[in-house]
Amino acid sequence: MVKVNENYANLAQNYLFAEIARRVSAYKAANPDKKVISMGIGDVTRPLCKAVTDAMSAAVAEMADAATFQGYPPAVGYDFLINEIENYYTSRNIPVKAEDIFVSDGAKSDTGNITDIFSNDNSVLIPDPVYPVYMDSNVMLGRSISLIDATEENGYLPLPDDSTKGDIIYICSPNNPTGATYTRDQLKIWVDFALKNGSVILFDAAYEAFVSDPELPRSIYEIPGARGCAIEFCSFSKTAGFTGTRCGYTIVPSELEFGGVKLAKLWTRRQSTKYNGTAYIIQRGAAAVFSPEGYAQTRENINYYRENARLIMDFMDKKGISYTGGQNSPYIWLKCPDGLGSWELFDKLLNSAAVVGTPGAGFGKNGEGRFRLTSFGSREGTVEALGRLDLIF
Ligand code: PLP
Repeated sequence: MVKVNENYANLAQNYLFAEIARRVSAYKAANPDKKVISMGIGDVTRPLCKAVTDAMSAAVAEMADAATFQGYPPAVGYDFLINEIENYYTSRNIPVKAEDIFVSDGAKSDTGNITDIFSNDNSVLIPDPVYPVYMDSNVMLGRSISLIDATEENGYLPLPDDSTKGDIIYICSPNNPTGATYTRDQLKIWVDFALKNGSVILFDAAYEAFVSDPELPRSIYEIPGARGCAIEFCSFSKTAGFTGTRCGYTIVPSELEFGGVKLAKLWTRRQSTKYNGTAYIIQRGAAAVFSPEGYAQTRENINYYRENARLIMDFMDKKGISYTGGQNSPYIWLKCPDGLGSWELFDKLLNSAAVVGTPGAGFGKNGEGRFRLTSFGSREGTVEALGRLDLIF
């Protein structure tokens, strides 16, 4: 008889967003005339910029002509996009080469699928709280996982010490959900640790475009030695509004080698076996993000979200509520006022102000007593939500 993967039974119930939806529906049913504003979503709301949609329209026309029609794309991406990504790094003096770059349909797939190229008997180190995909994709494989605490005391930026163990180490900076962003010196501590212990760092840079402080690193490869110990994941989702369009990329440096095997070779094999490439039209749209117009237009959208974040931070400052994030991240991670628990604050905001956020407890045990607000909403919605919160804090 077929045996199922029993590791799935060990996944924590993914009740966070289902439970939020249930409580919001109940509230709406009881208060049909109240307009609920969501400050909880991790999805973008600004449309794709014109440079991107123009490039995609031109690509659609090419697909309609036998002379320019494209069939299966290369599994690792078209050169025209890979070269743009290489230039994006080179222009910042970051050592990334075209052959290191693998285009995909997003960072969620890649952070989940990268598990395929590592043996199941590796130990895995994951920060708590963090984006849940790292944990779940390893639980599915029955791997041994330890957590490293991200807390108010360490500014939600944990660092290794003598007792830290992990063959595979996940780092997300700027972090979802805390918005905390590692400095160069802090990332160097992780890189040195990985090089010393023969570990690999899986660095998720999905929010790099939100870093506004020029002193903070936006790529792990800004740290000397990182090419010998780190894989980086990045995405057009938050940088250019591709959450519904789907495009990302992963960097596996050619130096990265364990047990005499190059990881880039394994990842190439993994992708060409199980993935048939990102659509031509989408890759043309992604390449347009790097054109002068595309860059300026996507930055306009990022600045729009940044302004929302600034309004939320000003509000928290005015009310004396402590938080991380916002400055270099679309997320504001606040300490629930009056000692409330995450879900208690959720209910208070919903029932007294019809504002929805995300309870921190949904991201790990250290998220209890914390709450995530996002700057991805509309300006009007953000301003109105803050006006309502002003009345209850
Ligand atoms: N990595 C982090 C830290 C995220 O928060 C998200 C989405 O919210 C992703 C990756 C997913 O990115 P993508 O849309 O490219 O799959």
